[in-house]
Amino acid sequence: MKTISHWIDGRIVPSTSGNSSPVFDPATGEQTAAVDLASVAEVATAVAAAKAAFPAWRSSSLSKRAEVMFRLRELVDANRKEIASLVTAEHGKVLSDAMGEVARGLENIEFACGIPQLIKGDYSEQAAGGVDVYSIRQPLGVVAGITPFNFPAMVPMWMFANALACGNTFVLKPSEKDPSVALYLAELLAQAGLPAGCFNVVQGDKVAVDAILEHDDIAAVSFVGSTPIAKYIYETGTSNGKRVQALGGAKNHMLVLADADVDMAADAAVGAGYGSAGERCMAISVVLAAESIADELVAKIAERIPSIKVGPGNEPDNEMGPLITAEHRDRVRGYVNNAPEEGATLVVDGRAGVPSSGYFLNPTLLDNVTTDMACYRDEIFGPVLSVMRVAGYQEGIDTINANPYANGTAIFTRDGGAARQFQFDVQVGMVGVNVPVPVPVSYYSFGGWKSSLFGDTHMYGPEGINFYTQAKVVTSRWPDPSTSSVDLGFPETR
Ligand code: NAD
Repeated sequence: MKTISHWIDGRIVPSTSGNSSPVFDPATGEQTAAVDLASVAEVATAVAAAKAAFPAWRSSSLSKRAEVMFRLRELVDANRKEIASLVTAEHGKVLSDAMGEVARGLENIEFACGIPQLIKGDYSEQAAGGVDVYSIRQPLGVVAGITPFNFPAMVPMWMFANALACGNTFVLKPSEKDPSVALYLAELLAQAGLPAGCFNVVQGDKVAVDAILEHDDIAAVSFVGSTPIAKYIYETGTSNGKRVQALGGAKNHMLVLADADVDMAADAAVGAGYGSAGERCMAISVVLAAESIADELVAKIAERIPSIKVGPGNEPDNEMGPLITAEHRDRVRGYVNNAPEEGATLVVDGRAGVPSSGYFLNPTLLDNVTTDMACYRDEIFGPVLSVMRVAGYQEGIDTINANPYANGTAIFTRDGGAARQFQFDVQVGMVGVNVPVPVPVSYYSFGGWKSSLFGDTHMYGPEGINFYTQAKVVTSRWPDPSTSSVDLGFPETR
């Protein structure tokens, strides 16, 4: 049985904790590996390596750091399929979806290639007589990332690309459910020329997470995962004096107005509801359908479901894979079991016809869902799409704004005025106009509002650069600069 262990100070380090957790192929239900779970001492070793590497890395020139990111960009690009295959093997999502994940992660490395431009400060000459004032942004030191199972390649790239480019060193604690990709990325970073110790991976569970949150030498923590854990990470990390950004769960609504193109809305709802088996924090979970088109929309969504090809992610024709674990599949099934008792209409029952092995659940469609039902209140994180009927725009926006989650949302309409009003009114961090999964491009920033994010800064993009740096303002007077020497060499930056 393969053992998946830590990456510390530039090499694989076998664990001494004696604790491990099984890793499964969700498409077959078979155990494929055991992942080591770090002890507090092992986390301390990784942090010590990152701390030791920090002074030299933060002193390296911006050109040098950009060069490492450019090389990493080439390596990730050349190994897209390899990375995607690792994602599919442990997460279960279909290969085409995993390729999309790698592509969106890669965009964050490409963004970080621009670090010399991104980290520039301001300069004010003659703020007073002979006095100049300027601002600089400096790295924080050792920073940590704690990531969820559903994007084992992309979410780490959201974090470490900018963190490293800014001059920090990094400790990553990936999900114990799909831990292999993190080690693969560590090897690519080493091949790209990142010095040993700058990037470390500790595999683990709550023990490792708590060790990170309590370690005095970690300056900041980026977290992505479920809302209860995000809240815990934020509260514990900040009470220990760390800067924390903790992104949580979601319940994303898609409002379809009466004037929308119903076919386009149905295509979008199916793609955004069942893509990655609904295990995306930007998946559409609830369709708010204007009453006058609701019957037609439900019929068109239901009509599309039988042609979705469900099966193992490594078979090229499949469009939807299994769920991550048997427990999670059973939890999602539980919502489907209970929904009719609560008064919902089960239009398409995904419990039927699933393969006997693996953690599959077929696409499921619920209609006449109301806000008091568990399938509406909770984040299901599975291939279950709920349709709720609303009178029109106002009831739709009121429903969205009353929900405690506020990650993503979308409006489908042909009415530009309604779309603009929606963008103005909606209390959600990421908004799509006829775009069902509005994940911002890497040069904007990603984050929800309310229970979908704890902390002040969104992730990656310009806010990522701010998160991984601290500002310093220098006020300077030089009465008589008089030293100078002649150098005919072409000026180099490193
Ligand atoms: P999770 O919260 O269970 O786990 C996330 C990380 O926290 C993992 O590394 C895990 O090992 C660790 N963890 C789990 N329980 C812990 C505990 N009790 N104490 C300390 N650490 C703990 O989330 P998940 O199931 O891996 O991922 C799915 C969730 O992540 C969903 O809720 C989804 O919406 C959310 N998510 C959010 C975003 C976003 O950007 N907002 C993106 C992706 C996923």
